[in-house]
Amino acid sequence: MAPTDTEWREGAACLDQPALLFFGMDDSENPAARRLREESAKRVCRLCEVRAQCLEYALAAKEPYGVWGGLTEIERRARLRSRAR
Ligand code: SF4
Repeated sequence: MAPTDTEWREGAACLDQPALLFFGMDDSENPAARRLREESAKRVCRLCEVRAQCLEYALAAKEPYGVWGGLTEIERRARLRSRAR
């Protein structure tokens, strides 16, 4: 899917969720709080009907921050590395 194809967003389960849940507040978030927040965001993603499209978008766009498609930025980078092999 091309990065510009974003019609899938209309079906996003996170539309009514605060962006803070997916992107965090700032650099002062401690690791434990971050883990809890990311797990909460991932729970929303698990119920999302457009999860696959969201993840492919984020991978193609190399979204640098936040939980997209049920994966954190670190997990997405790992996914991209494994695809490149
Ligand atoms: S997969 Fe997660 S981040 Fe992506 S649209 Fe769905 S709820 Fe939002």
